[in-house]
Order: sequence, then structure tokens, then C-alpha cells
Amino acid sequence: MRPEILYPLFAPVTTLSGVGPRIAKSIDKAAGPRIVDLFWHLPNGIIDRRHAPRVADAEPGVVATMTVRVVRHQKPGNPRRPYKVYCADDSGTLALVFFHARPDYLRRVLPEGETRVVSGTVEIFGREIQITHPDHIGTLEELDRLQAVEPVYPLTAGLTLKVLGRAVRAALEKAPGLDEWIDRAFLARHGWKPWHAALGEAHAPADAAALEPTSAARQRLAFDELLANQLALALVRANMRRVAGRGLEGDGRLRRKVTQALPFRLTGSQEKALDDIAADMAADARMLRLLQGDVGSGKTVVAFLSMLNAVECGAQAVLMAPTDILARQHLAAIEPLAAAAGVTVALLTGREKGRQRKTLLDDLAGGQAALAVGTHALFQDDVAFHDLALAVIDEQHRFGVHQRLTLAAKGRAADVLVMTATPIPRTLMLTAYGDMDESRLLEKPAGRPPVDTRVMPLGRLDDVIAAVARAVDGGGKVYWVCPLVEESEALDAAAAEERYGKLAQVFGERVGLLHGRLKGADKDAAMQAFAAGTVDLLVCTTVVEVGMDVPAATVMVIEHAERFGLSQLHQLRGRIGRGTAASTCLLLYAAPLTETARGRLAIMRQTNDGFRIAEEDLRLRGAGELLGTRQSGMPEFRLADLAAHAELLAAARDDAGLILGRDADLTSARGRALRTLLYLFERDAAVKYLRSG
Ligand code: ADP
Ligand code: MG
Repeated sequence: MRPEILYPLFAPVTTLSGVGPRIAKSIDKAAGPRIVDLFWHLPNGIIDRRHAPRVADAEPGVVATMTVRVVRHQKPGNPRRPYKVYCADDSGTLALVFFHARPDYLRRVLPEGETRVVSGTVEIFGREIQITHPDHIGTLEELDRLQAVEPVYPLTAGLTLKVLGRAVRAALEKAPGLDEWIDRAFLARHGWKPWHAALGEAHAPADAAALEPTSAARQRLAFDELLANQLALALVRANMRRVAGRGLEGDGRLRRKVTQALPFRLTGSQEKALDDIAADMAADARMLRLLQGDVGSGKTVVAFLSMLNAVECGAQAVLMAPTDILARQHLAAIEPLAAAAGVTVALLTGREKGRQRKTLLDDLAGGQAALAVGTHALFQDDVAFHDLALAVIDEQHRFGVHQRLTLAAKGRAADVLVMTATPIPRTLMLTAYGDMDESRLLEKPAGRPPVDTRVMPLGRLDDVIAAVARAVDGGGKVYWVCPLVEESEALDAAAAEERYGKLAQVFGERVGLLHGRLKGADKDAAMQAFAAGTVDLLVCTTVVEVGMDVPAATVMVIEHAERFGLSQLHQLRGRIGRGTAASTCLLLYAAPLTETARGRLAIMRQTNDGFRIAEEDLRLRGAGELLGTRQSGMPEFRLADLAAHAELLAAARDDAGLILGRDADLTSARGRALRTLLYLFERDAAVKYLRSG
């Protein structure tokens, strides 16, 4: 149960005075529906209202806070003219200007003869010094609050800073003092304040530096959020481990048959990954391992050999893919290997229906089917296994932690191996998986030299065409990638067709064209012609990013490379360098380059390492954009900025481990404070894993 002290924070913002349903709706759009959402809605700017000149010294265009006497209200003769309130100090007269004014309201807040504090942007109109619609009007008692640095919040249409600012202030008044959950020494070392004070400070930036993720208050809040995330993951993991695993150690007879039948030798990385996995499977604890490697690094064979280990022990193993198509591709890749071992593989996707599905389910439940490949159809309620020992999940960021665990729950303490094709930066991996064990396929399969990447301006197109001609004459195959144009397939296709037309003038029949607008059969024909060698130069859009496998292709030209993201460039470049011949990638850009684009191209030139590229992509773009977090199942953070707070994440990870090592059920004083932290960041589900409530 959520601790009582947090109840008010999870109440809707309408419980704040001055916030009705209409304002609440706009606040919901900007920040969220509850009071706690306003806590996490941190300012992104400041207005400095400390400048307090005499009226005569006020400069136009500058925000000023002035203390003045209200002299006289002047109603306009013509309703289209503004209402004016003349004020003065010893130095001069200040006109406050109001369009569509409500005179009774203005008489109330600006009574003649009284002293008032007004703040806004100064204008000179004719000979008058004026402020149109002052941002603030207050009494002398409010001077301190008004003549200060005011936080500026991200807004949405229909929500003014004044209204949101007031709501945030009201929300902050409800923030309770909470017992400290951060280790005292750690807190002191960073000079961080208690949670309540840090929250207040984050909402009261004294200067621009206070808005930076490196400010003490923001670091503290980010650490809180990361610690909640890491602690929750550690609890899930500890719970999985609590269910005793089983030792699985096959005799290798099936695996030997397959490795002998392979037309290649396994790479060192593959051998190492297989050893790691075999050791995990042999151990009593449950395996929870991530297998990462670029497209083409050879994950499938690693997964399949591990599955055979389970089969050698008389148990079952499944491989789950995110889509029907990928499941079928996996099956096609695996079937020849399975044939070598003399085992069959069942397929279960959404497309298997009726009798066929019934038979499959019977075989899985009875144990006649030892291996299965499929989609999430594999973990529907009516799917039962005779003895599932290993679940391999080819995830591509599309499954959540929940689904992973559901599949694992179908087995008797089944081991779990998760495969990802896009390398996940270490920082992101930690937030999504916690301290999961990890194997990386770093080496390219034998004899594949790295791609030589060069960057040049589009102005040198003629040189590029000449170089391509030389490559083609020498028997090379070339991809020519045309860029995305405003996310429109039609425009992409047009750009590709135009380039195709130009290149056809030079290369004639040797040029092919492939883009998303072509009919399925025409696409297949274009790919076939390129693969078979009747076409040497394939002009294409990013459709080649997925699925094309032509090992003879050794050159890739990417036009307007500055328009592509780093990971996308890497995926594209992965289409070449798949054979044993040296490959070249030419990145053509249109000047001038933005700072970020220049950075991206430089990294592409420097490295072929997908892991390094993923890290740099995170640094250059931020986590959200990198993976499109919303669809990806990756956690989103309100306070932590993974690019800026990577060190805090690592510290939170270490801390979560230490905490659970000492106080596995969070029953000490600090443990209880940590429970509150978990609730504060809505990791309620993780608290359920604790043994005592
Ligand atoms: P991934 O799943 O990591 O994208 P795959 O498992 O599909 O990669 O492997 C890509 C290609 O490389 C396949 O054709 C596979 O047979 C081949 N391959 C795998 N391992 C090796 C190796 N050690 N040496 C040569 N080729 C390999
Ligand atoms: Mg694969």
C-alpha cells in the first residue's frame, strides 16, 4: 500500500485552490493530471525581475519591477482604445495599459492613492513610459516574491505562465518532508539537500546555471528517479532468482552435429557467448542474459545452439520474435541447422489457426515438439509446455519487461536469453534491464574487413560518379541511397527516380531502381537483378535498410547523409562489408552542416563499431529520440537525462545492489524510506516482490 504521507501528492490537481476542471485539463496536457506531476514539471527558463529602476530610468524592452503610487484610472472614450492606469514614483509617471479591460477588477487591484509593485516589460510610447498588461501587480508585502527570479515552465496552448506558476507553487506547498533514502555519506559528498529542499530549489532557479542538469538540486532529483528505477529492476531480478533455477548441461551430441555441418567457423565472440550461456544454464540460478550484436554478427546460430543444449537434456526451448515475418525468417535460418541435428522446429504465430494450431499446442504440451519459433502467440494463456527450459527472445526493443517475464513463467524456472540487433548503449541498457548479464558479439564473422568510410560534399558528385564507374568496371556492386524527403514516400521515390534517370545516362542498363512505391513483384525483381548480377548499381531509398543481403556489394553512396540519424547510417552501411572484399562507403553531404550533423558524420568515419555508434547517438540526440522510447518499452524519465546523468545511473545501479545485499526486504529505517521512494516514482509493482509488507 502506498504510504499515507504520499496520498495528497497523487490527488488530482483540481484539489489545489484556484484550479478548476478547465485549467486542470490544460495542466494535464503540459505536465500531467496529478499534483506529483507538477513536482516533476521543472522550469526550462527564468525571467529575472530583480531589476528595479526608478520610473525615469526604466529602459524599453527590459523587464522591470517598480514600486509606484497609483495616481488615476483613465477609462477610454472609445472602446477600442485601452484603459490606462497612471502611476508614479518620485522620478516620473508610468502608464499601465490594458486592452479589453475589466475596470472593476483593475480598481480593486490598483486602488487610487495606494502603493503597488508592478512588473513587466517596459515600453516607450510617444513620450510615455508604459507597461502593457503587467505580468504581476502586488502589494508591498509581496515585493520579495515579485522582485525575484521567476521560473518559466513549459506550457501548452491555453495555459499561461501565471496560472501554471501559481498551480506549481500551490502543489509545492503540499510537498511533505520525507525521510532520507539516499545514503548519508553519498548525500554529503555531493552536497545535496534533503528531497523537500531540493524540490523547492529546482523550482526556484536563481540563475540560468540552476536550470542545467548539473545543478545540485536537479542531480539529486534525477538520482532519486534513477534509484527508484534501479531498485525496482533489482527487486524483479532478485525475485526471479529466488525461484530456484535448474542445472541444464547437455552432452553436446546435437550441438556437435550442427557445428560440424556449419560452412564456417564460429567467431571468438560467438564461442565466448556460447560458453557464457552454457555456464548460466548449467548453474542452479536462473539465466537472465542479453545477447547483443549488430545485424549480421551471427546471433541466430548462438541462440540455436543454446536451444539445443536444452533439447539434449530432454527439455524444450522456444525462440520468440516480435513479428510474423521475423519469426518466419528465423525459422528459415534455423531449419537447415535443425535438420543437421535431426530435430524439427514448430512454428506458432497469429497465422496458425484451427486444427493446425490445436495440433501444435498438443505437441508443445505433450513434449513431442522440442523446439518452437513464434511470436507473442507463444505466451497466450492456452499455450502450455511439457518442460520449457529456455526462452530466447529476439526483442528489437519491442517487448516489455512484463512480456519477458510472462514467457519465462511458462517454464519451470526457464532460463531467459534476450537478443537485440540494435546495440543498446550501456546507459539505456541499465535503465531497461537493470544489471542483466550481457554477451556482446563484437567481432565480425571471419574475413570481413571493416568498411572504409569517407565524407565529401555533394558538390563533388561528378568525382563520385567517376569513382563508382571505376568500381563497377572492376566488377563491384554499388548501392546508391537517396535520402528521406520530408517523411514522404512519394517524394522519396521521386528523388530516387530522378537520380536513377541521371545515372542511367552514364550506366545504361546496369542501373536498377528500388523504392517503397514499387509493387511487391517489381521490388523483388529489382533485388533479384542486383543479387544475381544483371544490375551493378542499385539506386534505392532506405528500403535497403532491412532485409537486403548481397555479400558481393562493396560500395555504398549515401546522398544527403546529413539528413540521416547515426543509427540509421550504421544500419544502412551494414548492407556492405558482408563479404571478404574491401568495401567503401561514401557519405555525401550538403553544406552547411549543423554541429550535430558534423559530429555524426565524423563518428561514421571513425568507427564501424555499432556499440560505440549507439553511445554517440545517445550523446548527440538524447535517449528519447534514439529509440522512440514510447513504442520501445524503454522507460521514460521525467527528471533524469540519460545523456547528462549517466554517472548517476551507474551510482544508482551500484547503490541498488548494495541496498538489497544488506536489507533484501527493505525493513530497516532506510529501507522503509526507500519503499516510499518506490511509491513516489510509482514503482508499486516492485514493492510486491518484497517479502514483508
Ligand atoms: P544476426 O542474427 O546477428 O543478424 P545472423 O545470425 O543472421 O546474424 O548471421 C548473419 C549471417 O552470417 C548468416 O548468413 C550466418 O549464417 C552467417 N554467420 C554466422 N556466424 C558466422 C561465422 N562465424 N562466420 C561466417 N558466417 C557466419
Ligand atoms: Mg538475425
